[in-house]
Amino acid sequence: MEINKTMSFMRSLCMGEIEQDIIYPFPKMKNSEKEMLTGIFSSLENWLKDKGGDFRKWDRAGELPPEFLQEMREMGMFSLIIPEEFGGLGLSSTGYSRMLQELGKYDGSVALTVGAHSSIGMRGLLLFGTSEQKAKYYPKLSSGEMIAAFCLTEPGAGSDAASIKTKAVLDGDHWVLTGEKLWITNGGIADFFTVFAKTEGTDGQMTAFIVTRDLGGVSCGPHEDKMGLRASSTTTIHLDQVRVPKENVLGEVGKGFKVAMKILNAGRSGLGGGCVGGMKHLIELSTKQAKERSQFGKKIADYGLIKQKIGHMVVECYATEAVVALVAGLVDQGYEDYAVEAAISKVFGTESLWRTADEALQIAGGNGYMCEFPYERIVRDCRINRIFEGTNEILRLFIALSAMSDVGAQLKELASSLEGIFNDPIKGFGLLSDYGRKKLSQVTGVGGSKKTFTQAHPRVKAQTAIFEEGVRDLSVAADRILRKHGKNIIGKQFATKRLADIMIDLFALSCVISRVSTSIHENGEIVAEKEIEILTVFAGQVRRRTKSNFGKIDDNDDELIKSLANHALDKEKFIWDNV
Ligand SMILES: Cc1cc2nc3c(=O)[nH]c(=O)nc-3n(C[C@H](O)[C@H](O)[C@H](O)COP(=O)(O)OP(=O)(O)OC[C@H]3O[C@@H](n4cnc5c(N)ncnc54)[C@H](O)[C@@H]3O)c2cc1C
Repeated sequence: MEINKTMSFMRSLCMGEIEQDIIYPFPKMKNSEKEMLTGIFSSLENWLKDKGGDFRKWDRAGELPPEFLQEMREMGMFSLIIPEEFGGLGLSSTGYSRMLQELGKYDGSVALTVGAHSSIGMRGLLLFGTSEQKAKYYPKLSSGEMIAAFCLTEPGAGSDAASIKTKAVLDGDHWVLTGEKLWITNGGIADFFTVFAKTEGTDGQMTAFIVTRDLGGVSCGPHEDKMGLRASSTTTIHLDQVRVPKENVLGEVGKGFKVAMKILNAGRSGLGGGCVGGMKHLIELSTKQAKERSQFGKKIADYGLIKQKIGHMVVECYATEAVVALVAGLVDQGYEDYAVEAAISKVFGTESLWRTADEALQIAGGNGYMCEFPYERIVRDCRINRIFEGTNEILRLFIALSAMSDVGAQLKELASSLEGIFNDPIKGFGLLSDYGRKKLSQVTGVGGSKKTFTQAHPRVKAQTAIFEEGVRDLSVAADRILRKHGKNIIGKQFATKRLADIMIDLFALSCVISRVSTSIHENGEIVAEKEIEILTVFAGQVRRRTKSNFGKIDDNDDELIKSLANHALDKEKFIWDNV
């Protein structure tokens, strides 16, 4: 059966449908790509394995030295997603994500320099470039002669990207760009910039432009002194009457917001891969540390509280890798609507890495706090992940509200169908929409073949049942929240976040079920035993978390919390003092 590639697994899930063909079997990397990457990884190891001291030094200095940048060029680090005919490696989304995973194991600043170039800096050219634009820029981008940067954020426009002030005014065959972009990764080393500006004559809409340093009028501020990822270049970019030829428009004039969102969505497999790499590295460090360090006459690895941390790290790493690889697989298989799933992978991966880094530092004790060891740097490095490429708050709102808008549209249809029922019950029933029928079947228990994940392996039936029950509860909850708040749901962020958290958990669980089931099918139950244990733990965590979140829809302290926040905001301090 041909699968409809316009469908989104998560959007369907919120309506109570499990489109299992989208996520099962678990996607695999092509053999040819696997072989190529295996070779590259061993070169990477030779190149980077002894550079731990340098990475620490460069973090302190706040810069990657030019000689190392040159080595990165020679190692092909800027050619990853550029098609082979233009001198690139032509990696798929899966291969690219895997590559960033490998780099993430060595150093965050190096991974970010590569990631900002490929994930967002030149991604617009790949997605929206004309053949002339590609022919002109790909060779230089591939060799690293040109490093790329993505310029959206401005002093007054962070999460609210649509409020940018950079202007583009048409003058003959050129757009003249003026404005200031803030905190641009690779700003100090890039020559190719994907710039977003409000375009004259488009009713306040923005447009994406290719801007190159040689156009004149492009300058960058000093290196920002940052908490983490210190060796990666972050600067402001000033655009002073930059004359950009008309042919440098990326996509359509006035459609820049869509371009920006598509770039960020498509680039998420890189950041996700980096998170997985970081987690794998931390598990290696923590297990070695726990086996080396003795206290109270025993290795700390023998204590339950240390085992608890390491066990959770393993579960989180497996789940994150499952989510990131599945989303990359969706992109590679040509699914068009993966924005919600990609947003989930960003939130889930960045928060899992954060918890893992924090616990790894805890296992290392005081050593973890010392700059001589890598833990404190990794904690500093990974903190930004929850802020850039869409803050996790904004992405949670996006995840839940995208699903709500679908349910809302169906509810409208349902309302008119129900009107029909009351006017003429027999005819009206015929008018009942799919959604209405589904709701009826949820109540009556009749029909609905898509409510079960039948392809999951029978060995993980109990864990799959947790997922299926969660999906039923989710669609009922989405419906109930929407009926309760209607259009006002936009302002109900406590409720929206809860729904997003449930969706994140259920998507991650579906990915883990798919991964483990595929592994059992291919390798047998005995080989997959440890993976089944991981799934069992994760499914239990998801069941307990979602149960709590569902319960809080009606039983919560939201209004009291809001009242306390308003009080603090009003006083601008904590007013109680027991002295
Ligand atoms: C190291 C680094 C590298 C970066 N690289 C780039 C780059 O290469 N290119 C680029 O364009 N940008 C880049 N950025 C900018 C980054 O994308 C922004 O910092 C990010 O989008 C958040 O914007 P902001 O910092 O202005 O925070 P704000 O948007 O001011 O948000 C502040 C807080 O309020 C929350 N918030 C905002 N709106 C809402 C809302 N409606 N509801 C609930 N909560 C809300 C946010 O989640 C956040 O917690 C980089 C930033 C850093 C620090």
